[in-house]
Amino acid sequence: MVQNNITTPKAVNWHCEAFCNYRCKFCYAGFEEQRNEPKISLNSGLKIIQDLAKQGVEKINFVGGEPMLHPHLDEWIKESKRVGMTTSIVSNGTKMSRKWLESMRPYLDWLGLSVDASNDQMHAIMGRANASEFKNGVSGHLVRALDIAEMANELGYGIKLNTVVTSANAHDDMTEIVKKINPTRWKIFQVLKIEGENDGRVEALLVSESEFDRYIGRHVKSLASTSIQVVPENNDAMLGTYAMIDALGRVYTNKNGFYLYSRGTVQNDGFASCWNEVSPGFCHDAFDARGGEWDWESSTGVAL
Ligand code: SF4
Repeated sequence: MVQNNITTPKAVNWHCEAFCNYRCKFCYAGFEEQRNEPKISLNSGLKIIQDLAKQGVEKINFVGGEPMLHPHLDEWIKESKRVGMTTSIVSNGTKMSRKWLESMRPYLDWLGLSVDASNDQMHAIMGRANASEFKNGVSGHLVRALDIAEMANELGYGIKLNTVVTSANAHDDMTEIVKKINPTRWKIFQVLKIEGENDGRVEALLVSESEFDRYIGRHVKSLASTSIQVVPENNDAMLGTYAMIDALGRVYTNKNGFYLYSRGTVQNDGFASCWNEVSPGFCHDAFDARGGEWDWESSTGVAL
């Protein structure tokens, strides 16, 4: 939808929960100051979702922090489906159970799982572990994630896999793990430094463009015989191509390596007004170029 010459994004990532029970060292979704603020109420969240749909947003992706920690997540996913959006979540999976996956199946189209490595030693180095594992320098992430993936496959979810390439896993071979998880899309990110979010702890994990390209090239080749879409996102592709809402309801973008936030919130001022403020930090052409508008409707088994 175009209003005042400003085009509404088709997909929005809502970082609805600022807290996370994991300790990934590369994480740029720490949201320290937002953790001290009251969480968005059920009704304010419903209002946000209804407004997004009214403004022409077609897909909502619930992310965090860890979105499964938010007490109103289930209701918000159901409402998003009711108003006609494609629904998606990206989670570390720790709070997901078979019961939850079964109950949300009619409302949730896509399950995004984050798995960075083919063994938990590498996950431990990257901090992809819960707080108590992190303290002890270990991780049980891979075992848990494979369990969730197996259940999600059984239940017919569309699965997206996210992997962050860092100096700890740049040499890894994920072929067999990816085949086991069986995602429709495998998004591979080059670890990204965001000033004020992960600088000071991410530096040792940064990888060069060529190391990232080698990782991609290897896996494109090894997965060529499968139908899995390998979708690389280097640092350039990530900047200015995400329309985001934070845990307080502010809209933000990230074009120049820092976050540009709206002053108002969606629940109080409406998405259109907030988007007008931050849309200079978003580039629709770059969004298209990174494949932002992939075929999220036809690829899922859920009727829309
Ligand atoms: S699981 Fe996600 S939100 Fe949590 S620390 Fe890791 S990258 Fe950050």
